Formats: sequence, C-alpha cells, structure tokens
Amino acid sequence: MVNVGEIISRAEALFEDLNFTAARDWKKAEPGRKVIGYMPIYVPREIIHAAGMLPMGVLGGGDQLEVIHGDAYYQSYICRIPRSTVELGVSGRLDFVDGMMFPSICDVIRNLSGMWQLMFPDLYIKYFDVPQNYADEIGGNFYVNELQEVREGLEKLAGREITDDDLRRSIAVYNENRRLVQELYDQRAAKPWTVPASEVYLIVRAGMVLPVEEHSQMIQDYLGAVAGEDRPMKDNTRVVVTGLFCEQPPLNLIKSLELSGCYVVDDDCILVTRWLLEDVPSEGDPLRNLADAFLHHSAATAAKYEPDEKEKGQFLVRSVRRTRAEGVIFASPSFCDPALLDRPMLQHVLKAENIPYIAFKFAENSGQMQPIREQAGTFADSIKLWSE
Ligand code: SF4
Repeated sequence: MVNVGEIISRAEALFEDLNFTAARDWKKAEPGRKVIGYMPIYVPREIIHAAGMLPMGVLGGGDQLEVIHGDAYYQSYICRIPRSTVELGVSGRLDFVDGMMFPSICDVIRNLSGMWQLMFPDLYIKYFDVPQNYADEIGGNFYVNELQEVREGLEKLAGREITDDDLRRSIAVYNENRRLVQELYDQRAAKPWTVPASEVYLIVRAGMVLPVEEHSQMIQDYLGAVAGEDRPMKDNTRVVVTGLFCEQPPLNLIKSLELSGCYVVDDDCILVTRWLLEDVPSEGDPLRNLADAFLHHSAATAAKYEPDEKEKGQFLVRSVRRTRAEGVIFASPSFCDPALLDRPMLQHVLKAENIPYIAFKFAENSGQMQPIREQAGTFADSIKLWSE
C-alpha cells in the first residue's frame, strides 16, 4: 500500500509541472488521443470524457512561472491568471492541447477566449456560456443547446459520434469522482488535523491533469493511507476560505493559513470538482440531466449568478454551519471582479449571522506570506479569546 508521503509527492510533482507531462504522456500512449484544456470555473467534463478525450484543467502559471510575453496582452490592472495562461500558450507549454474551453465567468476570460482564437486559429476553441436564468424552459433550454454545441464540436474533432450511452457512462464516472472529492472534504471538515488543507488541495488539483478514473483511485488511496496515520490534533480555529474559485492561491498561502493556527474546513478552490452538489442521474436524457444539475443542484458561490436576493450568501452560511466553522476568510485574487464585487454582500450576511470574518487579496505569484500569516493568526487567536 502506498503511504501518504508518496501520494502527496506525486500530487505535488503534478502540481509543479508546468509542461503537463502527465497529460502529454496520456496523449502519446495511444494514437488519435486528444486533450481539451479548460479554464476555471466549471465546464461539463463529462462530454469531453465521453468523446474519449482528456479534460485538462489550466489553472494559470502559479508562482513559478515568469510571465514575459503574457503581460503585453493585457493591461496591468487585472488579475494575473489570464497573463500567465497566455504565457503558457505562447511559450509552447500547451502545444499538445487540441482545444480549449473558456467558461463564462468574467470579461477577462471572455476576452481570453477571443485572444486564444486569434493566437491558435487551428484549435477547437469554445467560449462556454452558462444561463443567468434558472427556469427550466428558459435557462434550461438555453443550457441544453450550449451542451449540444459542445457535443457537436467535440464530435467533429473526434471524428465520431458521442452517443447518449457514452454520456451516461461518463456521467457515472464523474459522479463517483465527485463523491470521493466530497468524502475528502467531509473528512477534512470532521477531522481537519488528519487531512491538512495543503494536502487536500494537492490531491484535488491532481484531478486537473490525471484521467478521472486515476484521480478517483488517488483519492481512495490517500484516504486509505491517512486512516493509518496518527496525526496530532491542534487547538486551531476552524475557518471557511472563500474567493479562490478562479486564480489559484500559492500553495504557500494555504500552508501559511494552517501555520497561523487555522484549520480550513471548507473552501471554494477548484470548484469544477464540486460544482454539482448531487449525483447527476445516469438514466434518461444525459444533457437535460446535466442542465438540471447545473440549474438546481450546483454550488451558489460568487462564481454563479444568484437571482434570489434572499439566497445571497446563504450557501456560505450553510457551509459555515455544516462544517462548524468559527469564521470566514475572504481571500480573493487582486482585481477579481466576481469575488470582490460579491464580497460586501456576503460580509453583510455574515455580520447579520454573527460570523466573524477577515479579508485579504493575493495573486497566484504572491511571495510575501508574513502579513497574511499575521492577519490570519490574529484572527484565529481573537476567535479563540472571544469564544472562551
Ligand atoms: S481571477 Fe477573477 S477576474 Fe480574474 S479571470 Fe478569474 S474570475 Fe475573472
């Protein structure tokens, strides 16, 4: 049986590899294989999988990539992820990718999809639009059409039909993966000292480059290995961290929160793995089922339009209650409109519920962790003092 250290080393190597060697190797293993990259926040990976292709998450360049060309494509007062993603593209690190999907999250990503079309005119490029209206007969029909467009685009690329049965099988495979990711999150919420946030992050992140079946096995191996370890419990403060849904925090930031005395018991990192909150039925019309899951059973974070004012912030409050968190940390990328514009509304709801919070900003390449450690440490200490 593999031990925790081995599994985490592998996940960390995948995380650090900006040449995406694992996905390259997967593609090379059989002739005709294709890889479709996708940006945060959510794309229906089931359809890519059903086409026999590898969905590969492209989550920016992190803190190890020097952005040389990427800065020339964007003004300076926006977040870093589009610039580092351009850098990944123009430096050839994504030269094996057959297509890219850009989910509708903000203007920056929308513009990036247009730029990608100009930069790589021979690739399959899809700007993946999502409904802003959750009535089945309006937003639902719109979304089914959007899914059908993805299906047809990938059929053309694959040179074969994607049948309903292909889709149903892929839905079942992703249901299992979502259940396992949720199990990992549940384990962390119940006993955060057994599965540190930095390890959970690396394990979930590995799912961006591994085939889903292999990723599911990795989570199972990790949970099994952790069960055999005796890790000491600390008197840390339980926090939910929110705002991390697109540009990723440096791994050191997550580690710094833990070192400062916080247990992260929930977060909105790498939401594509947990966007859908329930199993998608693997019987019936697969596209309608995916649409239904998106409309009615998906995570209501700042990354998703919330039409009902009374519901605003309630997803976050429920997360705090469910995980018995004692506070919330708003950690958002600098210049991130979706996260920063929602923040005052969410803070208002937390205040009304008497839930303490702090807020700071980061960039994927932030290097200076001392201020964050001090802020989070003071927050954790003050919660402990108030509650005694
Ligand atoms: S970090 Fe925020 S502003 Fe930047 S691309 Fe992502 S969602 Fe858009």
